Amino acid sequence: MSKDYSAVTSNKSGLIAPILVDSAEAEIMRALRRQGRISRSEITSITGWSKAKASQEIRSLVNKGLLVEVGEGVSQGGRKPGLLRINTQLGYIVGIDIGAINLQIAMADVTGLVVQQRSEPTDVHLRPESVLGRCSELITEMAIAQGVTPAQILGIGVGVPGPVDFAQGVLVAPPLMPKWENFRIRGFFKETFPSAFVVVDNDVNIMALGEQRAGDGANVDHFIFIKIGTGIGAGIISNGKIHRGSDGSAGDIGHICVDKKGPLCTCGNIGCLEAMAAGPAIVSKAMEVAQNGTSPILSKMLKLNGGVLQAEDVNTACREGDQAALDIIRDSGQMIGDVLAGLVNFFNPSHIFIGGRIANVGNHLLVAIRRAVLQRSLPLATAHLSIKFSRMGPDAGVKGAIALVLDHLFAIKDNPHLVI
Ligand SMILES: [Zn+2]
Repeated sequence: MSKDYSAVTSNKSGLIAPILVDSAEAEIMRALRRQGRISRSEITSITGWSKAKASQEIRSLVNKGLLVEVGEGVSQGGRKPGLLRINTQLGYIVGIDIGAINLQIAMADVTGLVVQQRSEPTDVHLRPESVLGRCSELITEMAIAQGVTPAQILGIGVGVPGPVDFAQGVLVAPPLMPKWENFRIRGFFKETFPSAFVVVDNDVNIMALGEQRAGDGANVDHFIFIKIGTGIGAGIISNGKIHRGSDGSAGDIGHICVDKKGPLCTCGNIGCLEAMAAGPAIVSKAMEVAQNGTSPILSKMLKLNGGVLQAEDVNTACREGDQAALDIIRDSGQMIGDVLAGLVNFFNPSHIFIGGRIANVGNHLLVAIRRAVLQRSLPLATAHLSIKFSRMGPDAGVKGAIALVLDHLFAIKDNPHLVI
């Protein structure tokens, strides 16, 4: 890992980490989280301790089962040094990314290495017991495939497409999934996986975290991750950390008004960005031009697809040069870009990463977003601004959810609010 994301930091979330160590042991765990594998001599040089003191602390962590010796490092002239790493037998972490119509789920060891992964359609209009119950079945299926017992599931990170009170782990007035309001997601998973520490966050926050830990967002201190799918949302990394705001709703840009005379949004307001430019809006405009004959290509697709169209069809029509399809994608890109321009002026990110299912519609959308941002932002804010599609695809969410759990897994005994 090229950057230290695992510094001892104050955990203001109110969550208590399940694994507590003393402050000396924490120094070693912190170095191991940052570097993966280190030698005993590296520990003495990082900590400034005597060999005897380092050996004593290492022994204590080995006895607790938190640390193991693995292989040998490069010799500096004498014996090859034994390398230490966090014990991957300690347990497993599950990352879940619940989208409006699709869910991704992955299991990783405590170093974040993904060992099992599943994906399938879902529907968040259903009751939470139904969607989360299916997640529990998939966790059990992955655990069996990996030879893991439920007691070895140390943590579950869950991303959901709505506003999350992070400290409580519940959705608050979620427009896309009203049946989930205040549902105790942590308690639900604790019933099946009592050893698991459960963290719940907004889906775009975990995608931003995934981009930072495993994507092109590594070493980027200020960036915005935009998810364009059934809804539109933003995850904000400020000074290398997720910015959730005072109540957890930072980045909920889908409900910024772009047209006071626009259509009704799922949130009850009029003309929100999401109602005008996200997946369902693109599909509804495509249906209109297919049915009224403005787009011969989409008309043909509509007939071939049995009366339904998807956002990907609009992209296919764009590639074939269909003007009506191009106008739909450009309009969406323009509206998203106009809102992003305001964010760029306000926040001055160096990068904007665009992900989510609608990002698959291709470059016409990206070109329109870029043009709108460059036209409407101040030159100083765009001088070094990079706007591109995330290359992580569906991995961003699950990898971010796993990282979120790992960030809260270890803390200092005397002060459990200091996570390692
Ligand atoms: Zn809205």
